[in-house]
Amino acid sequence: MSGVRHDYKPKASVAAMPRRRLSRGLAFARAWLERLRPAGPLSRRHVAAVVSLVVCAGLAGLWLDEPAIGKTENPASERESSRVTALPLPLPARSDVLAPGPGRDVVLPAPAGDAEALPEPEPDPPVVPDPVQRVSLEVKSGDSLDRLFRRHELSVGDLHRLLALEEVAPHLKRIQPGDTIEVAHDGPAILSLTRRITEDRSLLVEAGEAGFVASFLEHPVEIRRARATGRITSSFYAAGLAAGLSDGTIMRLAGIYAWDIDFALDIRGEDWFAVVYEEIWQDGEKLRDGEIVAAEFNNRGRSYRAVRFPDEDGRASYYTPEGDNMRKAFLRAPVDFTRVSSNFNPNRLHPILKTRRPHQGVDYAARIGTPIMAAGDGRVLSAGTKGGYGRTVVLQHGDNVTTLYAHMSRIAVRGGQRVKQGDIIGYVGMTGLATAPHLHYEYRVNGVHKNPRTVDLPKAEPVPAARREAFAAATRPLVAELEVLGPRRLAAADTP
Ligand SMILES: [Zn+2]
Repeated sequence: MSGVRHDYKPKASVAAMPRRRLSRGLAFARAWLERLRPAGPLSRRHVAAVVSLVVCAGLAGLWLDEPAIGKTENPASERESSRVTALPLPLPARSDVLAPGPGRDVVLPAPAGDAEALPEPEPDPPVVPDPVQRVSLEVKSGDSLDRLFRRHELSVGDLHRLLALEEVAPHLKRIQPGDTIEVAHDGPAILSLTRRITEDRSLLVEAGEAGFVASFLEHPVEIRRARATGRITSSFYAAGLAAGLSDGTIMRLAGIYAWDIDFALDIRGEDWFAVVYEEIWQDGEKLRDGEIVAAEFNNRGRSYRAVRFPDEDGRASYYTPEGDNMRKAFLRAPVDFTRVSSNFNPNRLHPILKTRRPHQGVDYAARIGTPIMAAGDGRVLSAGTKGGYGRTVVLQHGDNVTTLYAHMSRIAVRGGQRVKQGDIIGYVGMTGLATAPHLHYEYRVNGVHKNPRTVDLPKAEPVPAARREAFAAATRPLVAELEVLGPRRLAAADTP
């Protein structure tokens, strides 16, 4: 199954914005150095000291009132500044405010020709490199934000200032291994931080003139419809792949029919399926498959159609075209069908007792340790060793139905415990009278064994009467599509 992608594509303007504050200060620093150099040689330490002083002064200057600075601008200094810096946003005004008065009138030497005349003809190294660095912080097991920031030598003070923002904390505090956080920084100082918070939304925090500011970026996704059909030749899973379905869609399709069809044991060679599903696209790329909106599964000549329909709270369920819920009180098979080996004959001569015992249940051959699910909601009636059944769990469902799961390697529930359909209650093993690892599963109504693969199962709530009209309107086109999709595609595939 494809996971959610975390690709960050902040807009160009957005990425450039946090550069402003520092680049202004640095532009000023460079201007300063340009002024100083002609006066005489400077030791490296001296230069460094001046740079840091000037950067501090420059940053301090940023807190000054913008309009006041603007008024001091003059054309001469503007020309100067544009010469000394290639950084995106030079700060002409700053030199007027902070540079010593006479410096303003110093005539700078032309860069090329006069350079040789200088007492110390150093090559002109980039005094201050582009301050913006970018790093992808990858969250590893055991990481906290604090740790992550320290590892990358980023300011923990900035982190705390970020987290102090009301909009940021809920989207940044919780991190998990595998998450990534994109950071633009200048040394330890955070310039901007981006984190994908949902598939179509990112958090962006930028350093602004008055501290950090948070905003959200939208990454709209587009939902497209896709269709596929397949005929089963070897296995349902293989047929799904051959039809171009992803793992996730194959499992979702089996999930829709988990109450009707035993995918582990009931699939036959002539079975076929048709499915209409969503694909999620973003920026012209397919991210993953979305929900199945309609499906048909033809099992042993009988067709099961399902359509998706949301309730008033937006939670969708699958219904038959008649409005009956596809969900039922019991799963057909209490083990994942992909883990069951189909060539298994439960009616063999009992290898230990050498008799053909009446077989009252269904056997699923699977590896030791394969999880066993509760077929329905209920309560654990017993959990423990039970003679030839080995380690066994019995569940009570309502007043009259019990289910039994035998030969477990390990039991995962206790007597009296409540369980939900699909909960793991134990693991496949071969305890008791068993010669190979398998799950022996029984279904009894009022103490009488029923075939769990064919017994009529109690149904979940159908579409409520008040929603019937909306249901019919929403699902009619889907049913019409199914009407032609399966037969037409399959016929086309059969024609040489
Ligand atoms: Zn059995």
